[in-house]
Amino acid sequence: MKEVTLSEGLSEEIRRIYEAMESDYDEVARGLNFSCNGCPDNCCDSYFLHRTYTEWAYLWKGFRELDESRQQELLERSKQYILECAKAEAKGERPQVMCPLIDDGRCTLYTHRLMVCRTHGVPASMRRPDGRTLNFPGCFRCQEIVKKKFVHDSQAPHVERTPLLQRLVGVERELMGEKLHLYPRVKLTIAQMLVNGPPAIPTPHCERPGIKPNV
Ligand code: SF4
Ligand code: SF4
Repeated sequence: MKEVTLSEGLSEEIRRIYEAMESDYDEVARGLNFSCNGCPDNCCDSYFLHRTYTEWAYLWKGFRELDESRQQELLERSKQYILECAKAEAKGERPQVMCPLIDDGRCTLYTHRLMVCRTHGVPASMRRPDGRTLNFPGCFRCQEIVKKKFVHDSQAPHVERTPLLQRLVGVERELMGEKLHLYPRVKLTIAQMLVNGPPAIPTPHCERPGIKPNV
């Protein structure tokens, strides 16, 4: 297996995409006078599966900047997280387990956190490749604000996610090359991305294609 690593140029492009996502989010949040301050909930216990080699590799870039003992601590927490998710799933429940990267309410890898962590909260829309538009109403607190301020949800400001998602897809294509469609699809929690190790793809002589199985 060969590790998938980001060039400096691609890392910089991801950093810029993430920065733009934050800026789009902040603009809509300001327009709605919305923030997470005082929220009784913490979205970092939401169960999300992440789908790109790009974000997986970028998360690892940040993870490697931590000292070794910290990395070990987060890996142990990630294993625990995976076990707890498996228990919930075995009972037919959607897991709700606090992200292993949370420390004292703060994200340990804040600058390398994933797209979902940067976009959840405010209303958004995106156009799918088949032309369909998906609308996201925002979190429960944001929906309450929208209901009070607007007659109809569609009048509320929202983030248009499509251009930045397209840029992310562009990075994924450049990172993985023309065989992208042949590689296994990524569908992993942050904990699995850490415990599985950095993303890797089969080398020509590797007999077992595919990413390492989820732990
Ligand atoms: S996104 Fe919404 S639900 Fe999540 S912490 Fe912020 S205010 Fe609370
Ligand atoms: S990576 Fe950070 S922001 Fe995202 S869920 Fe985990 S702790 Fe929260």
